[in-house]
Amino acid sequence: MTDRLSAATSTAGHNRHDTLIPRPRIQPVSPVERLLLGPGPTSVHPRVLGATAAPTVSHIDPIFISIMEEVKELLRYAFQTENAFTVPISGPGSAAMEASFVNLLEPGDKVIICRNGVFGNRMVQIAERCRAVVVAIDDEWGEPVDPEKLRQALQAHPDSKVVAFVHAETSTGVLSDAEALSALAREAGCLTIVDTVTSLVGVPLFIDAWGIDVAYSGSQKCLSCPPGLSPTTFSKAAIDRIRARQTPAQSWFLDVGLLLSYWSDDSRVYHHTAPVNAIYGLREALLMVAEEELPAAWSRHSLHQRALSVGLEALGLELLVAERYRLAPLTTVRIPANIADKTVRAHLLDRFGIEIGAGLGPLAGKVWRIGLMGKNSASTSVLRCLEALNAVLIELGADLAQGIAVERAESLYRSNAGSR
Ligand SMILES: *Cc1c(COP(=O)(O)O)cnc(C)c1O
Repeated sequence: MTDRLSAATSTAGHNRHDTLIPRPRIQPVSPVERLLLGPGPTSVHPRVLGATAAPTVSHIDPIFISIMEEVKELLRYAFQTENAFTVPISGPGSAAMEASFVNLLEPGDKVIICRNGVFGNRMVQIAERCRAVVVAIDDEWGEPVDPEKLRQALQAHPDSKVVAFVHAETSTGVLSDAEALSALAREAGCLTIVDTVTSLVGVPLFIDAWGIDVAYSGSQKCLSCPPGLSPTTFSKAAIDRIRARQTPAQSWFLDVGLLLSYWSDDSRVYHHTAPVNAIYGLREALLMVAEEELPAAWSRHSLHQRALSVGLEALGLELLVAERYRLAPLTTVRIPANIADKTVRAHLLDRFGIEIGAGLGPLAGKVWRIGLMGKNSASTSVLRCLEALNAVLIELGADLAQGIAVERAESLYRSNAGSR
């Protein structure tokens, strides 16, 4: 292959070789193994990566159709639901967030959105673009959604049709009481949209028992898959609402009516080309969840979060969130005074191969977000993180009780022997 078109093919006009944009000469950067302890993506299990390397079949191949059915069944287990429409949407978590709102809301519909972080705020922005009437109720960043405020808002706005909130606010590390909030919405006759991106598999979540209508997640959090798919579930009541719409959903790609036909087990109407290999990976991750079983996954995430917390506190660091609202898959810790946020994160990444997350919005520069999600919810991640953080902070002159962090975490593990 020559870089330039030969004289023979070089004719007049746009085919002339002197108009060819030269081929790029790049030195491709290779990804290296990192310990991903940020807000997502988390490290991907080798079994999942291996599964994505299986031969690509067509999305209409009977083999793939069987795999889709398996994925639906496995997702129903992960979400604890019998909802027929339980599928991975092709796109990151934000795509499923958008799908939830554009399908349930019509222009002029009133929606109450509980906002206590970045993702609640995004819900407001999406709902506004649906030209819905948004009633936003706010709680402090670092606090859970207050059910009492929702109760009052439902009373003040009896014409509300939908209530939306984030179960696990990854921007702050707070878990809200999805069961209580959903019950209030239900009593008031509202459908619920619940962001379970970081809670799915990481903390107890019962879509049917809690009466949640629409929930969505992301492949790259506690499922330990590569980013790009967003598991979603819609209740029968939500599907009925969509079928009764006066106006078509504003998004063609995310129209659940169309996706229903694509994912249905009998008539599969072409909608888009599913990301076949990514779905192999998701199936593998979901098989692993089923093998471990949900209660074991939930207690594993809780144990390692507690070990990380005692370790961070032993370093003299302060956690943002009160113990009872702490989110097992993600811990927010205050950055000590006089310590440069970016320098610490850069040292952790460059020297220890560990990524932790920065603060967002009002918490930018004030906290770090340390994720222990899926595969990385493990004692090895906790101990490596504490050790590295200890070393970097001491080096940067922080006044810390050196060395005891790992010891405290180890001691918590010893008293929970058998569960690591
Ligand atoms: C990560 C996250 C999202 C967005 O997911 P993307 O895959 O980044 O689009 C939404 N909600 C919450 C709570 C998240 O943690």
